[in-house]
Amino acid sequence: MKVLKFGGSSLANAACFERVSEIILTNAEAASIATVVSAPQGITNDLVALTQHLNSSLIQNSKDCDLAETSDVESTLRTIERKLSDILANIIARNKALDKNSLCAELENLIVRLNQLTKGAQLLSHCPESTSAQILSTGEKFSVAMLNGFLSAKAESVSLIDPEKFLTTDARSAEPVADLKQSKRLFKAHYSGLQSLAIMPGFFGVKPNGETTTLGRNGSDYSAAVLAVCLDAQACEIWTDVDGVYNADPRLVNQVQLIEQMSYHEAMELSYFGAKVLHPKTISPLAQSDIPCWIKNTHSPQAAGTLISNSSNGAESVKAISNLSDVAMINVSGPGMKGMVGMAARVFSTISQADISVIMISQSSAEYCISFCVPGNEADAALDCLNQAFELEIKNELLEPISVRKNLAIVTLVGDRMQQQKGIAAKFFKALSQAKVNIIAIAQDSSERSISAVIRDERTDDAVRTCHQNLFIKRPSIDAILIGCGTVGKELLNQIKKQQPRLVDENIALNLVGLANSRKLLLEKNGIDLQTWETALESASQSFSLDAINQFVSDANLNNPVIIDCTSNDDIAKQYKDYLESGYHVVTANKKANTAEISYYRELREIAEQKQRRFLYETNVGAGLPVIDNLQGLLRAGDKLKQFEGILSGSLSYIFGELHKGLSLSEATLKAKELGYTEPNPAEDLSGLDVARKVLVIAREAGLELELSDIELEPVVPEELAALTDGEEFVARLPEFDEAFQQRIDQAEKDNKVLRYIACIENDCCKVSIQAVDTSHPLYSVAEGENALALHTLYYQPKPYVIRGYGAGAAVTAAGLFGDMLRTLSWDLEH
Ligand code: ADP
Ligand code: ASP
Ligand code: MG
Repeated sequence: MKVLKFGGSSLANAACFERVSEIILTNAEAASIATVVSAPQGITNDLVALTQHLNSSLIQNSKDCDLAETSDVESTLRTIERKLSDILANIIARNKALDKNSLCAELENLIVRLNQLTKGAQLLSHCPESTSAQILSTGEKFSVAMLNGFLSAKAESVSLIDPEKFLTTDARSAEPVADLKQSKRLFKAHYSGLQSLAIMPGFFGVKPNGETTTLGRNGSDYSAAVLAVCLDAQACEIWTDVDGVYNADPRLVNQVQLIEQMSYHEAMELSYFGAKVLHPKTISPLAQSDIPCWIKNTHSPQAAGTLISNSSNGAESVKAISNLSDVAMINVSGPGMKGMVGMAARVFSTISQADISVIMISQSSAEYCISFCVPGNEADAALDCLNQAFELEIKNELLEPISVRKNLAIVTLVGDRMQQQKGIAAKFFKALSQAKVNIIAIAQDSSERSISAVIRDERTDDAVRTCHQNLFIKRPSIDAILIGCGTVGKELLNQIKKQQPRLVDENIALNLVGLANSRKLLLEKNGIDLQTWETALESASQSFSLDAINQFVSDANLNNPVIIDCTSNDDIAKQYKDYLESGYHVVTANKKANTAEISYYRELREIAEQKQRRFLYETNVGAGLPVIDNLQGLLRAGDKLKQFEGILSGSLSYIFGELHKGLSLSEATLKAKELGYTEPNPAEDLSGLDVARKVLVIAREAGLELELSDIELEPVVPEELAALTDGEEFVARLPEFDEAFQQRIDQAEKDNKVLRYIACIENDCCKVSIQAVDTSHPLYSVAEGENALALHTLYYQPKPYVIRGYGAGAAVTAAGLFGDMLRTLSWDLEH
């Protein structure tokens, strides 16, 4: 005999019922099958809502208040009726052989009974627990009727098992424990002659006083385990909507891995600490009788599933991570506790008398403080009973007022092989600290099979994801979202495509998950195909918005999202604050943010620090040249920038070089433009504004509190020309200025000098101007598009620290961005 249990997710609609009956019949070819069913998906939630409305309406009525709650009762009843009728109608439509009349009569009976129970409670102005339990178990009874219909239509004779006849529990009201001995005895008495196919509703049983009781939410798994024990079954299979037990909650983590085999102990710890795939009490009865348990997928019956049995396999020391939400922590502490014998016993017996289960305990060695966790919904009751029990001690200040901290979660690592393994806790806590998660309390069971940390509930997602990444994937990841697909953006995409194999070799997962231009936004959590991104972006239906990206990042469970700004857009630069705030690293070639008001400049750094995100902008100055990083390194080492001079524009470097080969300013500019070295409108280069922005970035990096307007700027061409917004017009009018400019060139050459467009920082001031320099000057030989930066610092003197090389162009800029992107990893790994 095998027990097969199908959860609500396997019974969501008529097609699901049909699939389930096929699975049962296939299995029945090899063994007798007892099936345990849950309510159709969502129905128990509705029934819970019904009992809640009912209870509040009873309180309201006793206070003669309005009828709002009563109408909620009615509407919830109607919703349940409608949902069940819909499923029934579809079931009948799918299978002509079904006994339509008897199924409709069954549903009618259930609905009538539900209404009677509700009315009864309303008349009595009281809804006893057993009535609630009967209401709540309606969903399971419906499932039994439907499945029976399907199986009987196949001319199979089916036995129906009523849990109220045998599944006896203790007297606890919530989450009772089954009395296995008694259940087994009663089962034998009632069900000695079962057919080879049997069905039982899960989720409820009977108390010692004969009243109906539920087994707690998700309790059908437990029903199946108890039935398996009563039947001495050869296996208990839990059929659900996933392929088996994963090493983390698949709803939280993207790259979860299936566990092929695990021990009873591991499964018990995992379900106890929140893995919803199994009700926490399921495993214990199976383990006692050594019945293997399989977790299988109803939607993919051929998948192997997970085997839970006496033995575990795999070399991993940590098998899985689980998380339990909505937990509260209670602290009992005070000077009176020191050495007070039996204090812990008193605390816990008080809690147990109030029927509250303790999830986790941690105690300081000085016995000065006992902290323990209880389910969030029982925190107030726990506090009340402790306050009563320790009233005297609190009054006499032997105990401090008992405190409760709510909205907590417990994250737990589980694995039999964690025993005697060194360094696991270190890895766990390192991962939590990397995720910037504060640990409130820690507990390890003495068998070293589980280690738990209590954290703030809202930090659970980050905590679980980072732990999973570090403990299982062991592969740092970058989830890149690129904004701006112009020359630099395109080149960066090319470089990513080219470097992918190398990154894979280095065990780095670089995933392009988002791509945007000024019109469209393309998001794909499994990565955008780098061969076809252009057409995919063109056909994307979304337009760019931070909200859309935010939603995507939170839905897609990304671990390390990085926004890369390849635009020169002001509005996007203004959003960096929001990006950082929302947990992205920002990598940018766009200078607009770093040259905006100093208050914004500071704010960005503060948020990045606070959120522990990286704001990286190496390409703001000198494209891929390592300027910012080197400067930051020097400053961190105690150096000081005394003076700076540099050629910071590739196009102007080229143009000024050509001037001394005999070309006029307009000829040199036109040549540079034709070679693609200038902006489409060369006025943007010759205005000097871009150079002013770059020198401002350096100055601010060195600690100067300057605004763009503080920079003394001599444009290459007069203001009137520099202000032209039409590139064609600018090129046409530039020769007007050639003669005047030629005089400066001639004068410089007469003095054995060359003209250079130089940005400098001196005496806390920045200046951008045309200078004539002689051969002794470090920038004399810098032409042909190179950038050069001479940093005169405390450490580098009298000769400056010089950085030189091509400081413009798509390839070097993209390479700089690539480098910054990879730096977000070192942050993750180091912290
Ligand atoms: P059923 O309706 O079949 O009882 P549940 O919703 O109760 O199904 O449990 C299955 C769900 O448990 C899965 O859909 C999955 O989202 C969740 N789950 C949480 N943790 C795990 C885990 N470690 N492995 C597998 N599933 C998990
Ligand atoms: N139907 C019940 C619930 O939703 C029991 C179960 O599904 O296991 O909690
Ligand atoms: Mg379940």
